[in-house]
Parts: sequence; C-alpha cells; structure tokens
Amino acid sequence: MKNIDQFNFKNKRALIRVDFNVPLDDDFNITDDTRILAALPTINKILTSGGSVILMSHLGRPKEGPDDKYSLRHLVPYLEKVLKRPVQFATDCIGKETEEMASKLQPGDVLLLENLRFHKEETKGDETFAKKLALLGDVYINDAFGSAHRAHASTAVIVKYFPGAALFGYLMQDEVSSLEKVMKNPQRPFTAILGGAKVSDKIEVINNLLDKVDNLIIGGGMMFTFIKAMGGKIGSSLVEDDLIPTALDAIEKAKQKGVKLLIPTDTIIADAFDNAATKRTIKADMIPEKWMGLDIGPETIEAFTAIILASKTILWNGPMGVFEFENFAKGTECIAKAIAKATASGAYSLVGGGDSVAAINKYHLSNKVSYVSTGGGAMLEYIEGKDLPGVTAILES
Ligand code: AMP
Repeated sequence: MKNIDQFNFKNKRALIRVDFNVPLDDDFNITDDTRILAALPTINKILTSGGSVILMSHLGRPKEGPDDKYSLRHLVPYLEKVLKRPVQFATDCIGKETEEMASKLQPGDVLLLENLRFHKEETKGDETFAKKLALLGDVYINDAFGSAHRAHASTAVIVKYFPGAALFGYLMQDEVSSLEKVMKNPQRPFTAILGGAKVSDKIEVINNLLDKVDNLIIGGGMMFTFIKAMGGKIGSSLVEDDLIPTALDAIEKAKQKGVKLLIPTDTIIADAFDNAATKRTIKADMIPEKWMGLDIGPETIEAFTAIILASKTILWNGPMGVFEFENFAKGTECIAKAIAKATASGAYSLVGGGDSVAAINKYHLSNKVSYVSTGGGAMLEYIEGKDLPGVTAILES
C-alpha cells in the first residue's frame, strides 16, 4: 500500500483529505472528537518531517452554498490546541486567495480549508473543481476513511492530478488492512455478529458475509424478520414484512454454504418502547400480541458467547437490542464483553458501524478489541464486497 513513510515531505505542502465531519453542539463545541484524533498521527508525521499541511474536509450536509452553521472555522481553536501551533483558515477551499495562502506555507505550518461541500461540485466529483483543489499541494494524502465510499472530487477524482504523489494516511492504511485481514484472510472460525434496527440496511452485508464466515449471528431489531420468516410469533416487535423472502433466502444460503446461522431463541419483551416498560423473558418465537422484543435473552447470550469465545476472527456491527435503554442493554453489553474476552485469548476483532462503536465505548472496551473502525458507511460497503473509490483511486494511481 502506498503510504506516507515512503515519501520525503521536506519543504513539501501536503494536501490531506481528512474526515473532520464531527458532531457539534449549539455553541459549536465538538461533542465527539474521535475522527480528528484519528487523523493526528498522519498530520504530525508530516509536520515533524519538515512539511506543511493543508487540511480539507466536509462538515455536515450544507444544502445551498456557504452556511456558517457548517463552517469548518468552528474547529480552529480545537485544532490549535491538539496540534500545539497556530492554524490558518481559508474562507474558501479553492480560488486565488486560498492558492496564495497555500503557496506561502512554511515547514510546520497548518492551513485549514473551508467546507468542501459549500461547492456542489465536490459531491458531483467535478474534475475542474478537483483540479483547483490540486493546485494547493505538492502531494495528496487521503486519510478520510469515513468518506472512502464516495467518489467525490476530494476523495477520488483529485488523485489523477498527483501522479506518483497520491498516498494513504496512517488511518486509511489501518482501516483498510484491518478490513482486509477480516474479509480476505480470516483465521477460522470466523464469526460475524450483525444487529441494529433493520434487515434492509444490511441485505448486501448478509449476502456477502454468507460467502465468507463460519458463523453468522443475528441480533437486534432485525432478528424478528428472521423469526417471523420461520413462522414465529413476534407480537409488535420491529419487522420488515417485505424482507421475509430475503430472510428465507439467507437461511437457505446459509444451509447450502454450511454456515451456522444463529438466530436468538429467547428475548426480553416489553409492553411499550420505553426503558420503564414492564419486561419479561420469553421464547423468541412466542411473543404475545402488543408486546415487543427489545433485547436478546439469557439463553441466547449464553449460546452467542460460546460461539464468540471459540472464534479466531470476529466482526461486529450493530447492537443486540435497544441498548440506549438501560433495562434492555444487557445483551449488547454481554456480547461486547465476550468479544473483548475472545480478543484477550488471541482472536482478531473488528468493530464498526455507528451504534456498535457507541456500545463498545459505553462499556469502555474500545482498547480491548483489535480495531474499532471510524467509518460506518465505508466499512459496510467494503463488507458488502464493493470497491471503495477513495481506496481504489490511490491503489490504481
Ligand atoms: P443500526 O443503526 O441499524 O445499527 O441500528 C441501531 C439501532 O437499532 C439502535 O438505536 C437500537 O436501539 C435499535 N435496536 C436494536 N434492537 C432493537 C429492537 N429489538 N427493537 C427496536 N430497535 C432496536
């Protein structure tokens, strides 16, 4: 993989596509800085190697041109703190003034560009726009794994304007090698654990994983579509009736491929979608009318834990229940703990996708798994078997 350790940055301006699409509160304070922290090793490497850095990112989804609510200028004070130096800010990501600021950068300087998505050309993958961005740097680095599944101007199209000088940052490199380790060369048994709300979000994921895994564990809201497909009674649990044929196809494919498909056998039901609801443990296919399953039950936790502990490669995406409610979080917590335990015994574990990352953080286990991905959408597309344009563009350059 083309990485930044093989490049001499002395007196070079590195144009880095980062993913600084961080959540901000009403006063523009960053409420979760994970993505910025993840990009620091790459930025610091260039600064300490005698180069200067130009940072470009998107923030939110601005609809029509510039909008202060989505301005990256709000990030400047925080960046100055973590980079321990002044950060210059360009009020437009392209144009004469910005080019001038970039040309004056000295080794060790940092310039942050305004939101790329203030120009609609960014998401359209416009070549002229990409070319204008390319004028700003001598070398291009993509460290924005969270945007790697987009064929945007700054993530993929721009690469052609940096012949021989388009590289992966450390974060991108770690993300891709972690995914390759799991999806291309897994040690067996390989177990994937899928949860979360909907089957519809994960059809392709399920399909592709059935070609690769030894065990596929299904939990979360999506389990009820499977249970209904098998003729179970699911009360008023979350279900996608139109996906019952899809669930049956997956059950059939698992059989054909010799994949062990594990569907919960018991569940914690509630009489309302509420943490304070009355709850009961019951067989997962015998849920009474008006009751809904909000977590996996103790028998299921035991069965899933045994499979996880016997695995050598583990992939986890999606909570096992409504873990935001304390009373329905036990399944997710126990599975997170089982993954941590398996990792301590030598398994390789990759956790990714918004809510499973939130869960692993909630139980303070992020250091106890092998890798936590920063890119939910990009990770899922990779697991679906799709090419990531941000990765392919550099690999093929
Ligand atoms: P996703 O974004 O698809 O990973 O879904 C995550 C969401 O699924 C979380 O907010 C969970 O509360 C929700 N979820 C998990 N299990 C259930 C369930 N049994 N019923 C309803 N929602 C669920």
